[in-house]
Amino acid sequence: MKKLVSIMVTMVMMTVMLTGCGGSSSDSVIKFGTNAEFPPFEYVTAAGVLGEFDGIDMAIAKEIGVQTGMEVTMENMEFDSLLIAIENGQIDAAIAGMTIDPERAESVDFSHPYYTATQVMIVDQNSDIKTAADMADKKIVVIQGYTGELCVQDLGYDYEAFKKGTEAILELNNGKCDVVVLDSATAKKYVKDNPNLKIVEDPSAFEAEEYGIAVKKGNTELLNKINTVIDKMLADGTISELGAKYSENE
Ligand code: GLN
Repeated sequence: MKKLVSIMVTMVMMTVMLTGCGGSSSDSVIKFGTNAEFPPFEYVTAAGVLGEFDGIDMAIAKEIGVQTGMEVTMENMEFDSLLIAIENGQIDAAIAGMTIDPERAESVDFSHPYYTATQVMIVDQNSDIKTAADMADKKIVVIQGYTGELCVQDLGYDYEAFKKGTEAILELNNGKCDVVVLDSATAKKYVKDNPNLKIVEDPSAFEAEEYGIAVKKGNTELLNKINTVIDKMLADGTISELGAKYSENE
């Protein structure tokens, strides 16, 4: 009898240790951050897949929660703040159509790539811009901190940076600028909503970019979990289905 009691006490203690783990439940929650200004990857809507958030990335984040058995929360913040929020522990991961680039990879670790994009030029239907070089004497608008800004910097052209894609498109619609440089899928979405605009591509000027989920440097435990889900969603076609679905509907 004594032995049984001591086994039970040990079991209770083990359960407390396993589930309690320092008295916090943070091990079972993934705190994601995004910038919900980037359709079809993330945007705010009345009833999204994750609360008020919807889009390809939001559906991926939700699936990461389902497949890891972890709770998923989503915090909306400025794109510029995402990497800092990871570094200071405010969020565990950023899912934001974020291009994997060497400079960002110095401060965070990236998951396997899950989407390939490129920068494109959004112009008026009547624009004479046909290549990136044609932007030389034009008024260029980019979104602050996006890879599009870096591309225009690399090309050596002057530009104006706006905080949101919608503000940049408004500027173009009002004739206050000639071209907006932006990621391809998001550009397509805006052009679909604005029939007076068109997309001009120049693959010789803009390299392919790959999106990844960012986590804190060295957080291999979370990164491995995320990679397992991404690999599965890529292999079984879920991510391309989501791409098609959200590009169609939104
Ligand atoms: N892919 C671009 C970048 O990483 C834009 C991402 C975004 O706005 N969400 O800078």
